[in-house]
Amino acid sequence: MTNVDNLIGNSKKMIDILGNSYEYNCLGCEIASKKITPPGGIIYEDETFILASDPEVPLKGFLIVNVKRHINSVTELSIDEQHRMIEIVSKAINVLKDLNITKEVTLVQEERSKHFHMWIFPHQDWMIEKFGKGISYLRDICKYVQENVTDKELTEVMETIELIKNAYK
Ligand SMILES: [Zn+2]
Repeated sequence: MTNVDNLIGNSKKMIDILGNSYEYNCLGCEIASKKITPPGGIIYEDETFILASDPEVPLKGFLIVNVKRHINSVTELSIDEQHRMIEIVSKAINVLKDLNITKEVTLVQEERSKHFHMWIFPHQDWMIEKFGKGISYLRDICKYVQENVTDKELTEVMETIELIKNAYK
C-alpha cells in the first residue's frame, strides 16, 4: 500500500493507520490547513509548526514535525523558526524518553520531499534484534510495522499518542 513516494509526501493518496482514505495535492499543506487530521490529532502547534504522529506508520511514538508553509528546506525557515524547530524536536524527544517509549531516536529530513517535515523515529529493542541498527533499516521497519500491526498494537499506538498529548498539557 505505502510506497516510497508516499513516505516522503509526494503521493496523491493515503490510507492512514485508522483506515481513513485521503486524496491530496500536498500532505503537508493539507495537515497545515486541517483538511487532514493526523491520527490522534495534533500534539503541538504554533504559528509555524505542527507536531503529530505519523499518519501511515502505526509505530508507538513515531512523530512528525510539519512546517505549515509549503517549503522544502530548513534554510527557508527564519533563524527564530530554526531555533524553535530544534526546541520542538528536543522537547518531543524528551517526552518520548520520559514516557519510556524509546531510548534513542533518529531524525530524518529529506529536501527531496516537496513539503518540509522531519521524522522523529523512535527506536525500540525489537527493531535492533530484527533488523539491526542504522538508518538503512528505517523503511524496512516502517513497512514491517504496516504489514504486521495487530489490533492490540494499533490500540497501543493510539493510547501512546494520548499519553504524549497529555505530556504537553
Ligand atoms: Zn505543501
